[in-house]
Amino acid sequence: MTSPVIEAERTAEATTMRVGVMAGVRDIGVQDVAMPVPGPGQVLVRIRATAICTWEQRSYSGAQANKFPFVGGHEIAGEIAAFGPGTENDFQLGERVAVGSAACGKCHWCKTGQDRACKQHYGVAQKYGDAWGPGGFAQYKLQVADGVYRIGDAPFEVAALSEPLSCAMHANRLLNLRPGEDVVVLGAGVMGLMNVVAARQYGARVIVSEVDPARLAMARRMGATELIDATKVDPIARVKELTEGRGAEAVIAAIGHEKANEQGMAMLSDKGRFVLFAAAHPEPAFTFAPNEAHNRETGVFGVISGEKQDFYAATRLIRYGLVDLSPLIDATYPLEEIGAALDQAIKPGTYRVIVEL
Ligand SMILES: [Zn+2]
Ligand SMILES: [Zn+2]
Repeated sequence: MTSPVIEAERTAEATTMRVGVMAGVRDIGVQDVAMPVPGPGQVLVRIRATAICTWEQRSYSGAQANKFPFVGGHEIAGEIAAFGPGTENDFQLGERVAVGSAACGKCHWCKTGQDRACKQHYGVAQKYGDAWGPGGFAQYKLQVADGVYRIGDAPFEVAALSEPLSCAMHANRLLNLRPGEDVVVLGAGVMGLMNVVAARQYGARVIVSEVDPARLAMARRMGATELIDATKVDPIARVKELTEGRGAEAVIAAIGHEKANEQGMAMLSDKGRFVLFAAAHPEPAFTFAPNEAHNRETGVFGVISGEKQDFYAATRLIRYGLVDLSPLIDATYPLEEIGAALDQAIKPGTYRVIVEL
């Protein structure tokens, strides 16, 4: 059941593939690079859609240092194009999948159900000529066989958002929420909104604090139960008011900012947990009062990426239409226009821009 397109591309003559290579800041072009060949235990995925995430945006704009040449793109959906020799799995050629969290299954972290820390979490480290990177801006990608997930009939561009949703599902799972608990999400950019969606799936009442009215409106659309316009009211006082003076049981900082960290810590209830969900460059300050944490039994932890079970949950939510992430897609561009795609992606107010391959 391999699609005719894949068959045509992977004939004996097709020894190269098209790849969007970032040569430096605001410098990206499409090149031909050798077609990867899957090794034992690997699958080859024909990528159909890749969403442009913050890492690629910051590398392109220069806001975050990176090593060039770089092949970005880690929010990926496509079809299984080939299996390496002896690769064991239950997928068919041509099956529609998202590329996600992998694991070795053998290490301490895998054995204790914490496979984010497994060395094989990000799967295959592939080279693209002299370029490196996660490879979503290439037509084909290698992945270990357990790092692909079924997406059913979900559109590729929506299924590409499995990865960011899996990160938010991870954060909310680690919070161990009870139904109806109060969760504050600070910042309603894409990752804040993914946390709104995930927290609702875990049964939380979701309070969003944000300074941009358009983003607040989107937060409502994505399932936020209470909105705080942080330009008009004091978010700490408002959260206390909404929670009978307790504060929130969980605060997820989806923006990396000193003030957000301060506010978030100040709006935690007793027993509350603060999640550092966003990185920022330069690194923001974070003040932690050990005695207060001791006395109130509060805690802080960081989240970067979802474990296998979170990725699996994210793809099932998308596949079965239990969540609708389509409002977060602003535009799609063909690979040949990847420069224009990145130019739009780095514009303030943009959610996700998709590259179609
Ligand atoms: Zn991402
Ligand atoms: Zn492992």
